[in-house]
Amino acid sequence: MPTMVAKRSADRYGVVGHPVGHSRSPLIHKLFAEQTEQNLTYELIDAEPEHFETAVRGFMAAGGKGLNVTVPHKEAAFRLADDLAPEAQEARAVNTLAFVAGAIRGHNTDGIGLVRDVQTNQKQAIDGRRVLILGAGGAARGIVGPLLAARPAELVIANRTVERATELAAQFAERGPVAGIGFAELEGLPPFDLVFNATSAGLRGEVPPFTPGVIGPETFCYDLVYSVEDTPFVAWARQHGARRAVQGWGMLVEQAAESFFIWRGVRPDTRPILRQLEAAAPRAAPFIAS
Ligand code: NAP
Repeated sequence: MPTMVAKRSADRYGVVGHPVGHSRSPLIHKLFAEQTEQNLTYELIDAEPEHFETAVRGFMAAGGKGLNVTVPHKEAAFRLADDLAPEAQEARAVNTLAFVAGAIRGHNTDGIGLVRDVQTNQKQAIDGRRVLILGAGGAARGIVGPLLAARPAELVIANRTVERATELAAQFAERGPVAGIGFAELEGLPPFDLVFNATSAGLRGEVPPFTPGVIGPETFCYDLVYSVEDTPFVAWARQHGARRAVQGWGMLVEQAAESFFIWRGVRPDTRPILRQLEAAAPRAAPFIAS
Protein backbone atom coordinates (compact mmCIF):
# COMPACT_ATOMS: atom_id res chain seq x y z
CA MET A 1 0.00 0.00 0.00
CA PRO A 2 1.47 3.46 -0.90
CA THR A 3 1.77 5.75 2.11
CA MET A 4 -0.58 8.75 1.85
CA VAL A 5 1.02 12.01 3.01
CA ALA A 6 -1.63 14.62 3.78
CA LYS A 7 -0.74 17.98 2.19
CA ARG A 8 -0.81 20.69 4.88
CA SER A 9 -3.24 23.44 4.02
CA ALA A 10 -1.74 26.91 3.58
CA ASP A 11 -1.42 29.12 6.70
CA ARG A 12 -3.59 32.25 6.50
CA TYR A 13 -2.28 35.79 6.94
CA GLY A 14 -3.58 39.19 5.82
CA VAL A 15 -3.66 42.95 6.28
CA VAL A 16 -6.51 44.81 7.97
CA GLY A 17 -7.07 48.52 7.30
CA HIS A 18 -9.50 51.14 6.00
CA PRO A 19 -9.00 51.92 3.17
CA VAL A 20 -6.88 48.92 2.26
CA GLY A 21 -7.55 48.39 -1.45
CA HIS A 22 -4.30 50.17 -2.46
CA SER A 23 -2.11 47.85 -0.34
CA ARG A 24 0.70 45.97 -2.08
CA SER A 25 1.25 43.72 0.96
CA PRO A 26 -0.54 40.69 -0.61
CA LEU A 27 1.84 40.80 -3.58
CA ILE A 28 4.93 41.28 -1.40
CA HIS A 29 4.08 38.39 0.93
CA LYS A 30 3.26 36.17 -2.07
CA LEU A 31 6.73 36.93 -3.49
CA PHE A 32 8.37 36.30 -0.08
CA ALA A 33 6.50 32.98 0.23
CA GLU A 34 7.61 31.88 -3.25
CA GLN A 35 11.22 32.91 -2.58
CA THR A 36 11.40 31.09 0.78
CA GLU A 37 9.08 28.19 -0.20
CA GLN A 38 6.54 28.87 2.55
CA ASN A 39 2.97 27.58 2.20
CA LEU A 40 0.73 30.55 3.01
CA THR A 41 -2.03 32.83 1.75
CA TYR A 42 -2.37 36.57 2.41
CA GLU A 43 -5.68 38.45 2.27
CA LEU A 44 -6.93 42.06 2.22
CA ILE A 45 -9.43 42.83 4.99
CA ASP A 46 -11.24 46.18 4.86
CA ALA A 47 -12.68 46.99 8.29
CA GLU A 48 -14.03 50.31 9.52
CA PRO A 49 -12.84 51.29 13.01
CA GLU A 50 -15.99 50.00 14.74
CA HIS A 51 -15.48 46.58 13.13
CA PHE A 52 -11.72 46.26 13.66
CA GLU A 53 -11.81 44.01 16.73
CA THR A 54 -14.51 41.74 15.26
CA ALA A 55 -12.50 41.42 12.04
CA VAL A 56 -9.30 40.44 13.92
CA ARG A 57 -11.01 37.99 16.29
CA GLY A 58 -13.01 36.47 13.43
CA PHE A 59 -9.86 35.91 11.36
CA MET A 60 -8.12 34.34 14.33
CA ALA A 61 -11.11 32.10 15.16
CA ALA A 62 -11.14 30.90 11.53
CA GLY A 63 -7.55 29.65 11.95
CA GLY A 64 -5.61 32.73 10.76
CA LYS A 65 -2.00 32.88 11.97
CA GLY A 66 -1.29 36.60 11.83
CA LEU A 67 -2.27 40.01 10.48
CA ASN A 68 -0.60 43.20 9.43
CA VAL A 69 -2.44 46.30 10.64
CA THR A 70 -2.55 49.54 8.68
CA VAL A 71 -4.31 52.94 8.68
CA PRO A 72 -6.18 53.79 10.90
CA HIS A 73 -6.00 50.81 13.27
CA LYS A 74 -2.45 50.73 14.68
CA GLU A 75 -3.34 52.27 18.02
CA ALA A 76 -6.47 50.07 18.30
CA ALA A 77 -4.26 47.02 17.61
CA PHE A 78 -1.99 48.11 20.46
CA ARG A 79 -5.00 48.12 22.81
CA LEU A 80 -6.27 44.78 21.50
CA ALA A 81 -3.03 42.77 21.88
CA ASP A 82 -2.74 40.40 24.87
CA ASP A 83 1.00 40.99 25.05
CA LEU A 84 3.46 43.24 23.29
CA ALA A 85 6.99 43.08 21.91
CA PRO A 86 9.22 45.81 23.41
CA GLU A 87 9.22 48.05 20.32
CA ALA A 88 5.40 47.92 20.14
CA GLN A 89 5.13 48.68 23.85
CA GLU A 90 7.39 51.69 23.37
CA ALA A 91 5.56 52.93 20.25
CA ARG A 92 2.09 52.22 21.68
CA ALA A 93 1.21 51.22 18.12
CA VAL A 94 1.10 47.80 16.49
CA ASN A 95 1.42 46.93 12.80
CA THR A 96 1.89 43.15 13.13
CA LEU A 97 -0.25 40.68 15.06
CA ALA A 98 0.84 37.09 15.61
CA PHE A 99 -1.71 34.59 16.90
CA VAL A 100 0.09 32.11 19.12
CA ALA A 101 -1.69 29.51 21.28
CA GLY A 102 -4.91 31.54 21.32
CA ALA A 103 -3.20 34.79 22.34
CA ILE A 104 -2.68 37.96 20.28
CA ARG A 105 0.93 39.21 20.34
CA GLY A 106 1.56 42.73 19.01
CA HIS A 107 4.74 43.85 17.23
CA ASN A 108 5.78 46.99 15.40
CA THR A 109 8.05 46.51 12.37
CA ASP A 110 7.49 49.97 10.81
CA GLY A 111 10.48 51.65 12.45
CA ILE A 112 12.99 48.93 11.75
CA GLY A 113 11.67 48.78 8.17
CA LEU A 114 12.07 52.53 7.67
CA VAL A 115 15.55 52.77 9.18
CA ARG A 116 16.73 49.73 7.21
CA ASP A 117 15.41 51.26 3.98
CA VAL A 118 16.94 54.70 4.61
CA GLN A 119 20.36 53.39 5.68
CA THR A 120 20.72 50.31 3.47
CA ASN A 121 18.64 50.85 0.32
CA GLN A 122 18.77 54.65 0.14
CA LYS A 123 22.31 54.88 1.61
CA GLN A 124 21.29 57.93 3.63
CA ALA A 125 22.93 58.48 7.04
CA ILE A 126 20.79 59.48 10.05
CA ASP A 127 23.60 59.71 12.64
CA GLY A 128 24.26 63.36 13.56
CA ARG A 129 21.55 64.70 11.20
CA ARG A 130 18.61 67.01 11.96
CA VAL A 131 15.43 65.04 11.35
CA LEU A 132 11.80 66.15 10.98
CA ILE A 133 8.77 63.85 11.16
CA LEU A 134 5.50 65.30 9.85
CA GLY A 135 2.57 63.55 11.56
CA ALA A 136 2.04 61.91 14.94
CA GLY A 137 -0.30 59.02 14.13
CA GLY A 138 0.35 55.28 14.26
CA ALA A 139 3.13 55.32 11.65
CA ALA A 140 4.98 58.19 13.34
CA ARG A 141 4.72 56.40 16.71
CA GLY A 142 6.43 53.37 15.20
CA ILE A 143 9.39 55.24 13.71
CA VAL A 144 10.38 57.61 16.56
CA GLY A 145 12.19 55.00 18.69
CA PRO A 146 14.21 53.39 15.83
CA LEU A 147 15.07 56.85 14.41
CA LEU A 148 16.34 58.00 17.82
CA ALA A 149 18.36 54.77 18.08
CA ALA A 150 20.09 55.85 14.84
CA ARG A 151 21.41 58.87 16.83
CA PRO A 152 20.19 62.00 15.00
CA ALA A 153 21.45 65.38 16.28
CA GLU A 154 17.80 66.43 16.73
CA LEU A 155 14.36 64.92 16.05
CA VAL A 156 11.37 67.24 15.64
CA ILE A 157 7.81 65.87 15.39
CA ALA A 158 5.33 68.34 13.84
CA ASN A 159 1.62 67.55 13.66
CA ARG A 160 -1.68 69.22 12.72
CA THR A 161 -3.04 68.37 16.20
CA VAL A 162 -0.21 69.82 18.29
CA GLU A 163 -0.99 67.85 21.47
CA ARG A 164 -0.39 64.53 19.70
CA ALA A 165 3.11 65.72 18.69
CA THR A 166 4.01 67.03 22.15
CA GLU A 167 2.70 63.87 23.84
CA LEU A 168 4.66 61.64 21.47
CA ALA A 169 7.85 63.63 22.00
CA ALA A 170 7.38 63.59 25.79
CA GLN A 171 7.03 59.82 25.69
CA PHE A 172 10.50 59.49 24.08
CA ALA A 173 12.20 62.37 25.94
CA GLU A 174 14.61 60.05 27.75
CA ARG A 175 15.67 58.32 24.55
CA GLY A 176 17.23 61.33 22.80
CA PRO A 177 16.87 64.96 21.63
CA VAL A 178 13.20 65.03 20.57
CA ALA A 179 10.61 67.85 20.48
CA GLY A 180 6.95 68.02 19.46
CA ILE A 181 5.45 71.12 17.79
CA GLY A 182 2.61 72.31 15.52
CA PHE A 183 3.06 73.03 11.79
CA ALA A 184 3.04 76.80 12.43
CA GLU A 185 6.14 76.53 14.65
CA LEU A 186 8.16 75.18 11.71
CA GLU A 187 8.20 78.71 10.27
CA GLY A 188 11.65 80.25 10.62
CA LEU A 189 13.48 77.03 11.55
CA PRO A 190 16.54 76.21 9.39
CA PRO A 191 16.06 73.45 6.77
CA PHE A 192 16.29 69.85 8.04
CA ASP A 193 18.66 67.17 6.70
CA LEU A 194 15.93 64.53 6.57
CA VAL A 195 12.16 65.11 6.35
CA PHE A 196 9.73 62.19 6.75
CA ASN A 197 6.10 62.64 5.79
CA ALA A 198 4.18 60.31 8.12
CA THR A 199 0.79 61.98 7.62
CA SER A 200 -1.98 60.22 5.71
CA ALA A 201 -2.88 63.41 3.79
CA GLY A 202 -1.36 61.96 0.58
CA LEU A 203 -3.96 59.18 0.56
CA ARG A 204 -6.44 61.96 -0.29
CA GLY A 205 -4.06 63.64 -2.74
CA GLU A 206 -3.15 66.44 -0.29
CA VAL A 207 0.08 67.92 1.06
CA PRO A 208 -0.27 69.08 4.69
CA PRO A 209 0.02 72.85 5.22
CA PHE A 210 3.60 73.36 6.39
CA THR A 211 6.33 75.75 5.28
CA PRO A 212 8.65 74.76 2.39
CA GLY A 213 11.37 76.35 4.56
CA VAL A 214 11.87 72.88 6.13
CA ILE A 215 13.51 71.89 2.82
CA GLY A 216 16.93 73.07 1.65
CA PRO A 217 19.18 72.01 -1.25
CA GLU A 218 20.73 69.22 0.88
CA THR A 219 17.47 67.82 2.27
CA PHE A 220 16.54 64.16 1.81
CA CYS A 221 12.74 63.80 1.78
CA TYR A 222 10.92 60.55 2.43
CA ASP A 223 7.19 59.99 2.00
CA LEU A 224 5.92 57.00 3.95
CA VAL A 225 3.06 56.92 1.45
CA TYR A 226 3.86 55.10 -1.79
CA SER A 227 2.46 55.25 -5.31
CA VAL A 228 3.44 54.22 -8.85
CA GLU A 229 4.04 57.88 -9.64
CA ASP A 230 5.20 60.85 -7.56
CA THR A 231 3.09 61.27 -4.43
CA PRO A 232 1.85 64.84 -3.70
CA PHE A 233 4.55 65.18 -0.99
CA VAL A 234 7.38 63.95 -3.27
CA ALA A 235 6.26 66.34 -6.05
CA TRP A 236 6.07 69.18 -3.50
CA ALA A 237 9.54 68.38 -2.09
CA ARG A 238 11.10 68.33 -5.58
CA GLN A 239 9.36 71.57 -6.48
CA HIS A 240 10.94 73.19 -3.40
CA GLY A 241 14.45 72.01 -4.24
CA ALA A 242 15.02 68.88 -2.11
CA ARG A 243 18.24 67.01 -2.97
CA ARG A 244 16.30 63.74 -3.17
CA ALA A 245 12.67 62.79 -2.60
CA VAL A 246 11.64 59.15 -2.40
CA GLN A 247 8.57 57.15 -1.44
CA GLY A 248 8.04 54.49 1.18
CA TRP A 249 8.25 51.43 -1.09
CA GLY A 250 11.43 50.27 0.64
CA MET A 251 9.90 50.74 4.09
CA LEU A 252 6.87 48.76 2.95
CA VAL A 253 9.04 45.86 1.77
CA GLU A 254 11.43 45.96 4.76
CA GLN A 255 8.66 46.13 7.38
CA ALA A 256 6.90 43.28 5.56
CA ALA A 257 10.12 41.22 5.63
CA GLU A 258 10.36 41.75 9.39
CA SER A 259 6.70 40.69 9.86
CA PHE A 260 7.35 37.64 7.68
CA PHE A 261 10.33 36.77 9.88
CA ILE A 262 8.20 37.08 13.04
CA TRP A 263 5.53 34.80 11.58
CA ARG A 264 7.66 32.25 9.74
CA GLY A 265 11.15 32.41 11.31
CA VAL A 266 12.61 32.92 7.80
CA ARG A 267 14.07 36.20 6.55
CA PRO A 268 13.39 36.92 2.85
CA ASP A 269 15.90 38.70 0.61
CA THR A 270 14.25 42.07 -0.04
CA ARG A 271 16.39 43.30 -2.95
CA PRO A 272 14.87 41.18 -5.75
CA ILE A 273 11.37 42.09 -4.52
CA LEU A 274 12.26 45.80 -4.50
CA ARG A 275 13.67 45.51 -8.02
CA GLN A 276 10.49 43.80 -9.20
CA LEU A 277 8.23 46.48 -7.68
CA GLU A 278 10.51 49.21 -9.05
CA ALA A 279 10.15 47.81 -12.58
CA ALA A 280 6.35 48.12 -12.22
CA ALA A 281 6.63 51.80 -11.18
CA PRO A 282 8.92 53.35 -13.81
CA ARG A 283 7.72 56.90 -13.05
CA ALA A 284 8.64 56.70 -9.32
CA ALA A 285 12.12 57.57 -7.96
CA PRO A 286 14.61 54.61 -7.75
CA PHE A 287 13.84 52.23 -4.86
CA ILE A 288 17.53 51.44 -4.34
CA ALA A 289 20.14 54.23 -4.54
CA SER A 290 23.02 53.51 -6.92
P1 NAP B 1 -3.00 57.62 11.29
O1 NAP B 1 -2.70 56.92 12.57
O2 NAP B 1 -4.41 57.70 10.83
O3 NAP B 1 -2.38 59.11 11.44
C1 NAP B 1 -2.56 60.04 10.42
C2 NAP B 1 -1.64 61.23 10.61
O4 NAP B 1 -1.78 62.09 9.47
C3 NAP B 1 -1.95 62.08 11.83
O5 NAP B 1 -0.75 62.66 12.31
C4 NAP B 1 -2.87 63.16 11.23
O6 NAP B 1 -2.86 64.37 11.96
C5 NAP B 1 -2.20 63.38 9.91
N1 NAP B 1 -3.07 63.94 8.85
C6 NAP B 1 -4.06 63.32 8.20
N2 NAP B 1 -4.61 64.12 7.27
C7 NAP B 1 -3.94 65.30 7.34
C8 NAP B 1 -4.02 66.53 6.64
N3 NAP B 1 -4.92 66.71 5.67
N4 NAP B 1 -3.17 67.52 6.96
C9 NAP B 1 -2.26 67.33 7.95
N5 NAP B 1 -2.10 66.19 8.65
C10 NAP B 1 -2.94 65.18 8.35
O7 NAP B 1 -2.20 56.96 10.07
P2 NAP B 1 -0.78 56.23 10.13
O8 NAP B 1 -0.97 54.79 10.44
O9 NAP B 1 0.11 57.04 10.98
O10 NAP B 1 -0.29 56.30 8.61
C11 NAP B 1 0.20 57.52 8.04
C12 NAP B 1 0.67 57.28 6.61
O11 NAP B 1 1.84 56.47 6.60
C13 NAP B 1 -0.36 56.53 5.78
O12 NAP B 1 -0.51 57.23 4.57
C14 NAP B 1 0.24 55.17 5.56
O13 NAP B 1 -0.13 54.65 4.29
C15 NAP B 1 1.72 55.47 5.61
N6 NAP B 1 2.51 54.30 6.03
C16 NAP B 1 3.38 53.72 5.15
C17 NAP B 1 4.14 52.64 5.55
C18 NAP B 1 5.10 52.00 4.58
O14 NAP B 1 5.48 50.86 4.82
N7 NAP B 1 5.54 52.69 3.56
C19 NAP B 1 4.05 52.13 6.84
C20 NAP B 1 3.17 52.76 7.71
C21 NAP B 1 2.40 53.82 7.29
P3 NAP B 1 -3.87 64.60 13.21
O15 NAP B 1 -3.19 63.95 14.39
O16 NAP B 1 -3.94 66.07 13.33
O17 NAP B 1 -5.17 63.95 12.84
